[in-house]
Amino acid sequence: MNLVILGPPGAGKGTQAARLSEVFSLRHLSSGDVLRAERKKGSALGGRVAKYMDAGELVPDGIIVEVILTQLQDSGGSKGVLLDGFPRTRAQATSLDKVLSGASRRVDLVLSLTVPDELIVDRITGRRICPTCDAVYHVRALPPAERGVCDHDGTPLIHRTDDTEAVVKQRLTAYYEQTSPLEAYYREKGILVEVDGTKDVDGVLEALSAAIRSRLG
Ligand code: ADP
Ligand code: AMP
Repeated sequence: MNLVILGPPGAGKGTQAARLSEVFSLRHLSSGDVLRAERKKGSALGGRVAKYMDAGELVPDGIIVEVILTQLQDSGGSKGVLLDGFPRTRAQATSLDKVLSGASRRVDLVLSLTVPDELIVDRITGRRICPTCDAVYHVRALPPAERGVCDHDGTPLIHRTDDTEAVVKQRLTAYYEQTSPLEAYYREKGILVEVDGTKDVDGVLEALSAAIRSRLG
């Protein structure tokens, strides 16, 4: 089963994808985590994408499609993939369909998290991430046991440089202009399920899990 989790920046995609991938034995593939890892390594790819990420703009399709589709070829023994942050444009969605169908696979279900803009800014400015294991926290809603330190590996948490109010505005613009039309694309295929992302983490997880179970039949 191959799933996509859609939603605006800060909707809770990464938080939920980490949990769902454990429960359903899926490989969690986050395009943002992949790009941040490249930047951390100081690779040529990392250098090419930095300016777009820092400005809150989408990385060009040609770059991200190659990166993610290469990763997809290695499914690593899991029961499928849970894509988080990809696709973000129509061109990315059609490339994904093409590659999956070439391997007799497809996107089986798209989970769309709905969260209003008023909540997004608080979620994003309060987000802290672990640069070692990519765990996601929030200073108030989901704090680590010890302030500023990852529960899993003790690494000091960081505040992403693009998680500022100014950059969030640009990221929301990119979302509404380029990504939200994907809801219609997947709705027409009959595979879109919308889930209220404003509940607490466990409440959203329960709703998403129920949607997956009902699709699994
Ligand atoms: P996305 O991957 O969609 O950008 P994240 O999963 O990183 O979003 O979540 C954004 C921020 O909101 C994080 O700080 C996370 O801890 C927090 N968060 C996620 N889900 C919830 C929720 N249901 N209620 C409150 N805060 C949440
Ligand atoms: P995220 O971690 O999902 O918030 O992504 C962080 C940044 O990485 C985005 O603001 C974009 O600059 C870039 N990015 C991640 N995924 C994609 C994608 N599918 N298409 C284009 N840019 C992306």
